[in-house]
Amino acid sequence: MKDKCNREIKHLRFSITSKCNYNCIYCDQEGFIPKTSELTVDEITKLCKILAEILHVTRIKFTGGEPLCREEIVQIIKNVSDLHLYKDISMTTNGLLLYEKAEELYKAGLNRINVSLSSLNPELYKKIYGSDSLEIVLKGLKKAKEVGFNPIKLNFVLMKGLNDGELDNLIEFCGINNYILQLIELHEVSDAIGGNGDFYKRHHLDVKPIIEELESKAKETITRGSMQNRKVFKLNNSAVVETITPSHEFCMGCTKLRVGCDGNLFGCLYRSDLGKNIKEALRNHHSLSKYEQIVKQVVDSREPYY
Ligand code: SAM
Repeated sequence: MKDKCNREIKHLRFSITSKCNYNCIYCDQEGFIPKTSELTVDEITKLCKILAEILHVTRIKFTGGEPLCREEIVQIIKNVSDLHLYKDISMTTNGLLLYEKAEELYKAGLNRINVSLSSLNPELYKKIYGSDSLEIVLKGLKKAKEVGFNPIKLNFVLMKGLNDGELDNLIEFCGINNYILQLIELHEVSDAIGGNGDFYKRHHLDVKPIIEELESKAKETITRGSMQNRKVFKLNNSAVVETITPSHEFCMGCTKLRVGCDGNLFGCLYRSDLGKNIKEALRNHHSLSKYEQIVKQVVDSREPYY
């Protein structure tokens, strides 16, 4: 299904809980605050099936809050994997519970993980994430590699005056361990979800000059057309760096539909207000055409630029 800007919806970002065991200083809460209770495991599975049937999407990323805080996480992954409708099932996690859950998650059918890692310095890590747990996260990453996750991506949110001196470290760490680094430009968190513009003003750093430098050093550069036109650089130390910067180009290449943990479907990180809640329809076992109507309304509400 295409939106009015001819962007086809190709993948889902599904928040399965708003609970979190971290308190990240930059957190965007995935752009929404749940208004009602969480979807049940059966509702999540059913919705994944319906959305795959309506949109023909084959890629899904689970997020939170912290998705590993959802007790039934392994069951959710297994159910969605057993639908045999998704070729790529991934998750973004802070990694705190990864060491204990990596193996079960992999066996249940999770294909890929992204782990938030904006510092390799324990003190700074604690300051950014509000949790003194770098060591266990690193253990979790190792375990994830051992059980077979590939690729493993590290989400590095660049913040001026905090971790801007750590980028080279992280690139080296990724080169050595064969992880992919996602260099993410800090974005503003809207007031509607408790954002604090001051934090953004103090710590936002334009990633463009860094991208130019990486490009000049790269032995190969790729643009991921289906992923918001993200640039990917392959560097000489075998590190791979993907860049995520909010921009017009970014929106032009956006093919994502978001699902909130309470069943709110929406088309943009910054516009959960344009969403439509699908939980009522799920509870009343509506026909596929009713779901189609809701999904179409949401897809049609997508703006050219947020
Ligand atoms: N708790 C999980 C985690 O840490 O990955 C999932 C939720 S978290 C909101 C998902 C990702 O959103 C984080 O890895 C981070 O990269 C990104 N993120 C959150 N707030 C952000 C902000 N203000 N600017 C840039 N990226 C942000």
